Amino acid sequence: MYRSHTCGELRSSHIGETVKIAGWVQTIRDKGNIIWIDMRDRYGIVQIVAEKGVVTDEVIAQLKDLGREFVVQIAGEVIERYQKNPELPTGDIEIKATEVVLLNASLVPPFTIEDQTDGGEELRMKYRYLDLRRNPVQDKLKLRHKVSLETRKYLDTVDFMEVETPYLIKSTPEGARDFVVPSRMNPGQFYALPQSPQTFKQLLMVSGYDRYYQIVKCFRDEDLRADRQPEFTQIDCEMAFVEQEDVLNTFEGLIKHLFKTCRNHEFTEDFPRMTYAEAMERYGSDKPDIRFGMEFVNLNAVAQNKGFGVFDDAELVLGITVKGAAEYTRKQLDALINWVKRPQIGAKGMIYSKCNEDGTFKSSVDKFFDQAALAEWAKVAQAEKGDLILVLSGDTDTVRSQMNELRLHMGTEQGLRDPNVFAPLWVLDFPLLEWDEESQRYHAMHHPFTSPKKEDFDLIDTDPGKVRANAYDLAMNGVELGGGSIRIHDKKLQGRMFELLGFTDEEAKEQFGFLMNAFEYGAPPHGGLAFGFDRLVATMGGSDSIRDYIAFPKNNNGRDVMINSPSPLANEQLTELYLDTLPVEK
Ligand code: ASP
Repeated sequence: MYRSHTCGELRSSHIGETVKIAGWVQTIRDKGNIIWIDMRDRYGIVQIVAEKGVVTDEVIAQLKDLGREFVVQIAGEVIERYQKNPELPTGDIEIKATEVVLLNASLVPPFTIEDQTDGGEELRMKYRYLDLRRNPVQDKLKLRHKVSLETRKYLDTVDFMEVETPYLIKSTPEGARDFVVPSRMNPGQFYALPQSPQTFKQLLMVSGYDRYYQIVKCFRDEDLRADRQPEFTQIDCEMAFVEQEDVLNTFEGLIKHLFKTCRNHEFTEDFPRMTYAEAMERYGSDKPDIRFGMEFVNLNAVAQNKGFGVFDDAELVLGITVKGAAEYTRKQLDALINWVKRPQIGAKGMIYSKCNEDGTFKSSVDKFFDQAALAEWAKVAQAEKGDLILVLSGDTDTVRSQMNELRLHMGTEQGLRDPNVFAPLWVLDFPLLEWDEESQRYHAMHHPFTSPKKEDFDLIDTDPGKVRANAYDLAMNGVELGGGSIRIHDKKLQGRMFELLGFTDEEAKEQFGFLMNAFEYGAPPHGGLAFGFDRLVATMGGSDSIRDYIAFPKNNNGRDVMINSPSPLANEQLTELYLDTLPVEK
């Protein structure tokens, strides 16, 4: 028997018992006559004590030989602690060591394995197995485990069935590049790894499975950010015989259940809803953070035709009101102006107007706008004494997207984005298509299987760009948690959609023949959605880095620095796969 108890479970009720624990040495405090050791396992930390004269010299000698991260087994009596530690669940007791068995030694770890570590990100990723020993990291993975468990429980109670779908498939067109896998048995041919199980879950609906889900890996070869990984996990779902309302209700139920069971957070109200068009107009984003206001105000009527060319030439003059920020100094305002001018944001400049406490205004365009004109701005922007109005201008899409960034920045700067406040929002009625300037054709905004809204069918032929889709996203705190759509289940309409997206008949048949054929054998109306599981868990944990919630994540270059992957293949392997590589230009 390696242990009778774990390091985290001993309490004062165990005082007097002889116990055996096994774990890692976290810290050693050697005061000569008395030694304390903190022992750690997944369940917690417990203190070991050994005093000369009270325990044998052999035990003392053995303890003195231990080092950080050594794996040991210790037997002894649970005693009451002289100096209790209220911070620690086991802080009332300690174990008086009577027997020490060294199970394995350890090199000195490259960083301290404590809550606050001295290891930088790159080093911790290289030794991820050591980083994973740290409590804050374990807590994140525990949350992840709990969310996946509760997802399965909830979906089971509402009749969803988990079905696995293959990873070696053929390209699914969801907007990203595919990762591909060469086939040895089919020389010169490749599988693609799924960007999502989209077509398979639709086929399962044709097969009559009615309610499907899967917690599943998806693969997309995209540029990476804090909230993107080349392989990530989805809670992928599909339902037959449903309309949009059924899907929204079912998954609002899931999210409420997860927050309640895993975060002890109760959403008492229905999640608010907003159309895509409204979200873009009010927040310039299809995933607005509605934890705070600072909504966009259109200043065209009060800012144009006053002789200020920058505004007069703009399609849209857009403002936000930052409450109580009129005290921003010149220096702070200049910093903001530089911030919006960074290439990532790309604004040419920013105009401001301070609504002073004495009722006057001070703007950066006083030359063109007198006090009365600035009072008009304040009225439209609903700004009061003490507030600050920030203004950007340009063409509609650009200025909205820049103002979205500025609004989020100001929200952060003003401390309005509390990670313990959760603000969900369904965004509805996404456009079906988006025009791509580069390829000069339409792309599916969601994916090609999304159905247009019935009311907009007529526009398909006359003004495809205006067609709205039965597509929806769930946003929370400025993060897209998930999205989906009601699907096309009619072969003719699906064919028309492929045509709109610029596929020839042959191309559509070659790529999606299997789905089009299936639609000829009694496809039920169906729809679904997928949540980004890593993002959901990170948001629940109050973080915007999904990497922290993945046991073995990749870095920004898509590398796993621990196993050093990707890496070149040996020539024999390449030959077997009928592959050759071109020289790499550094
Ligand atoms: N397959 C879609 C995605 O990955 C989700 C869905 O439409 O159900 O975004």
